[in-house]
Amino acid sequence: MNATNAELFARAQAAIPGGVNSPVRAFRSVGGTPRFLVSAKGAYVTDAEGRDYVDLVAGWGPAILGHADPRVVEAVQDAAARGLSFGSSTPAETELAELVEARVAPVEQLRLVSTGTEATMSAIRLARGFTGRDLLVKFAGHYHGHSDGLLAEAGSGLATFALPGSAGVPADIAALTLVVPYNDLDALAAVFAEHGDRIAAVIVEAAAANMGVVPPAPGFNRALVELAHANGALVISDEVLTGFRVSASGWWGREARHEASAYTPDLMTFGKVIGGGMPVAALGGRAEIMQRLAPLGPVYQAGTLSGNPVAVAAGIATLRGADAEVYAKLDAAAETISEATSAALAAEGVAHRVQRAGNLFSFVFGEALATAEVRDYATVLRQESWRYAPFFHAMLDQGVSLPPSVFEAWFVTAAHDDAAIARIVDALPAAARAAAA
Ligand code: PLP
Repeated sequence: MNATNAELFARAQAAIPGGVNSPVRAFRSVGGTPRFLVSAKGAYVTDAEGRDYVDLVAGWGPAILGHADPRVVEAVQDAAARGLSFGSSTPAETELAELVEARVAPVEQLRLVSTGTEATMSAIRLARGFTGRDLLVKFAGHYHGHSDGLLAEAGSGLATFALPGSAGVPADIAALTLVVPYNDLDALAAVFAEHGDRIAAVIVEAAAANMGVVPPAPGFNRALVELAHANGALVISDEVLTGFRVSASGWWGREARHEASAYTPDLMTFGKVIGGGMPVAALGGRAEIMQRLAPLGPVYQAGTLSGNPVAVAAGIATLRGADAEVYAKLDAAAETISEATSAALAAEGVAHRVQRAGNLFSFVFGEALATAEVRDYATVLRQESWRYAPFFHAMLDQGVSLPPSVFEAWFVTAAHDDAAIARIVDALPAAARAAAA
């Protein structure tokens, strides 16, 4: 008899803080027992009790081809058979850099790291080293990993020097981060007017998806780049989540199609899809800036596992596999699932709004938010977030695994076929009833 999820969670809690290696996995915001997964294939994950679930987490984004895609698994097995880690350069690292540079024009050079946190942390150091300035601007509700200066939340008012956002972050470090409401160019201009000559960079999620999905207002990214450049600051566009997911060239590529919205960030960060489920992330951008990194320049950055050959093999296979047909499937699945969910909620009288950024989507609940654009964190926080837990558990009970928090995007894969989508659609009425209660 296999151990149950509850038994595994109890054991994990004794051995691991909170029983998890990343907090949201603990189900704190929805309650109940996290599922301990033992395998995943296509659109499905299977837990230790042998139950399978249609998965809308997709490893928090990387699995665009579906879990354990044979092309990716084979590439990983081949690479592993040739050695797990060399601590030396490999041809494959250049191949991955070239693949990214061919798709995302602002990336003239790329440096591989292992996590999104490392990518943004290194990009900020590089921006500071390049500009010789020390302040960083971020937007409230945007997540860029867990490095000290980036956990800062917004204080009250137009923009404030940030509070740390986590115990253990020295106030002096947090004070180097200025937090501004998202999609608010006036607030950003005010910050530049006051501190412009000290601001090294503005870091921004290309489309916000870590407070639920909150897309940038039309032209926002472009205006933000213009404002930063007018003040001698760089822009770091964080595409850890959106990169190679919302299009072959990420969110940047979607906006580059239209002259009115096209923008050129100085640095960009990637993660998730670029590693196809293995630990690969990257920072890239203008060669003039990238060449300030060691060994060419004075900005130090390094990693034992950076460009790991097994991980890079997964990234290359994933990017190569993600052709136009894959993106068409992701878009179609996102459309069908978000519309069906919205219809089910409406049928039960649950006021809500669908938030979309390409094939990323999520829902905000409540009458007040249903009727107006949701453009910032303060608005997102005003929703009836308590409706999500019963909705989530009703879906889980029917074999559909959603992100265990209302503040996360739902992730589809190209393996979400008619059968997987039918299971989701069939589960929705009961979940919507639970949300209505
Ligand atoms: N930046 C964004 C936009 C993210 O969504 C994330 C993770 O969700 C990160 C950075 C941090 O990446 P990692 O969890 O790989 O450190």
